[in-house]
Amino acid sequence: QAKEAGRNTCHFFSPELNMRATERLLLESTMRRALEREEFFLVYQPQMELRSGHIAGIEALLRWRHPDLGVVPPNNFIPIAEETGLIVPLGEWVLAEACRQAVRWQQEGQPPLRMAVNVSARQFRQRNLGLRIEKILMETGLDPALLELELTESAVMENPEEAILTLRQLKKMGITLSIDDFGTGYSSLSHLKHFPIDRLKIDRSFVKHVTRDHNDATIAEAIIALAHSMKLTVVAEGIEHSEQMEFMHQRHCDTMQGYYLSRPVTAEEFGTFLKRLGESDGKAHGLLGG
Ligand code: C2E
Ligand code: MG
Ligand code: MG
Ligand code: MG
Repeated sequence: QAKEAGRNTCHFFSPELNMRATERLLLESTMRRALEREEFFLVYQPQMELRSGHIAGIEALLRWRHPDLGVVPPNNFIPIAEETGLIVPLGEWVLAEACRQAVRWQQEGQPPLRMAVNVSARQFRQRNLGLRIEKILMETGLDPALLELELTESAVMENPEEAILTLRQLKKMGITLSIDDFGTGYSSLSHLKHFPIDRLKIDRSFVKHVTRDHNDATIAEAIIALAHSMKLTVVAEGIEHSEQMEFMHQRHCDTMQGYYLSRPVTAEEFGTFLKRLGESDGKAHGLLGG
């Protein structure tokens, strides 16, 4: 919109917009260097099966350890990486690192757990995404059945015909597919039913007040019913309290994820968590908290 506004006015050259452009360029080059300097790292958050109390999987979440700013959360840099295209190499690094870590834990004798990785819209649109992922799986040695990709509604709905081909290809490889932040984007149900997906993740915004807000409760229940009627499993994200967990449990939501179980932690901390888990029969309930 800067271009449109700027064509015939001097707004385009206003210091404010100028700075934004400069800032963006600076950020882009900084991020490119950060990738080379290995300033990015992953944290891991467990998911628990509500029926059994067993750990069902792990979500890998990206962090940037900036030398001056400290740890930068993904919402502050992923949109820029998405815009500049840096998300493609960055996302590939995330996939490879998450797969490597999953294999490392198995080599340490931990039971195999499914590793979920977020894939951005732009990354999903890459023509050879399937091949690239296949290569990463081969190089890291991770069983495709232990990889899950989290896609947003907008990523798959943007071009549903293309999306379905990509999803089928990934599905054929044995990868689990889920729709992240479900309910916040725009999903066409007629497309959704043709997508070979496995799970829906109820967005945190509906979970937050689920025990107090009748509308949020209705939405959460509707998503659970929708998923189950399509033979999909459901994950509730952002569970911070036992009441929210109880709500989801009572409504037969399959899986939970959130601070109540554990915050996202470093690979080292997660390794310790897995060891303790092994000593408690794989039951996470009561083992953790916050
Ligand atoms: P998401 O995929 O929906 O991930 C869940 C976010 O909720 C994470 O934020 C997680 O730390 C946070 N969270 C988990 N449990 C709770 C809880 O109980 N309460 C609250 N308040 N928050 C909780 P995070 O790590 O800051 O990531 C934010 C978003 O950035 C992610 O949302 C995802 O969309 C994106 N993201 C993170 N890592 C990657 C990545 O490697 N690639 C891409 N493309 N996007 C990523
Ligand atoms: Mg996610
Ligand atoms: Mg999510
Ligand atoms: Mg979310």
